[in-house]
Amino acid sequence: MFADLHLHTIFSDGTYTPEELADRARQLGLAAIALTDHDTVEGCARMTLACKKAGIEFLPATELTAELDGNELHLLGYFVDSQNPRLLAEMAEFQKVRQNRIREMVARLNQHNIPLQADAVFAIANCRSPGRPHVARALVMGGFCANLDEAFERFLKKNRPAWVPKFKISALEAIALIHQAGGLAVMAHPGLNRTDGIIPDLVSAGLDGLECFHTKHSHSASEHYLRLAKELNLAITGGSDCHGLSKGKPLIGTVRLPYEYVEKLKSKSANRKSVEPLNRLTVKPVQPLDASTIQRFNALTIQPFNE
Ligand SMILES: [Zn+2]
Ligand SMILES: [Zn+2]
Repeated sequence: MFADLHLHTIFSDGTYTPEELADRARQLGLAAIALTDHDTVEGCARMTLACKKAGIEFLPATELTAELDGNELHLLGYFVDSQNPRLLAEMAEFQKVRQNRIREMVARLNQHNIPLQADAVFAIANCRSPGRPHVARALVMGGFCANLDEAFERFLKKNRPAWVPKFKISALEAIALIHQAGGLAVMAHPGLNRTDGIIPDLVSAGLDGLECFHTKHSHSASEHYLRLAKELNLAITGGSDCHGLSKGKPLIGTVRLPYEYVEKLKSKSANRKSVEPLNRLTVKPVQPLDASTIQRFNALTIQPFNE
């Protein structure tokens, strides 16, 4: 039995509807899937129904963009309550930031004689969490770029003319936000960050797990993060980060997480819920790790690798 715990739908920058995604998962024989749309939990209600129909276990989740010490990182929040008022209020803010960022990107494109309109991007996105892939799609559909890669290369990649820096919540606040919504905080694709040095601080702030298996992790990267997760007593997760058809071929099911890790994640969640009162958004002060953990951490070799 296998799971894919990192998937996106039309509620952020994926192309599949929840129903299509559940159907693909059923065809692939997956036992469990999680929905991790960027800065939103809107798709979770439909996904719950779709998975029930497909006979697949569903884990509600989200993927928050955060930062720590100037490093961008993504935090997956598993088992968050998709009705949690504080979570919804904060997400509404993140979504506003995303929408304003789109307007700013479009303004910069206009300055470069690309007469794209923000409304065209919002119409294509048709969701509250629009992002750069939607601008890229609008550029292709408007005939300004031949394909999505060209849109990113010419305009949207970091330090290209239409790139706009993005406000990010602090990772420590993001962890607290996930916890108060009843969720577990897992660092997404740590291998893409190449900043393992921030992991101890995240652990001190209550990080619950590491996404050890990911499409862009090499075999050695997965091994490395598995070892790190075990050393630091963190949950182990994995997923394909499928965005449907928006990035070439759909990736769902290409990363197959053994179901035993889902079991462990569920028992960790049950433990947390039994000991931690919910609805308490406090950012825990960062406690230094104990000396032996730091020693073990330092003894691990950190191998950089290519995306
Ligand atoms: Zn991510
Ligand atoms: Zn993702």
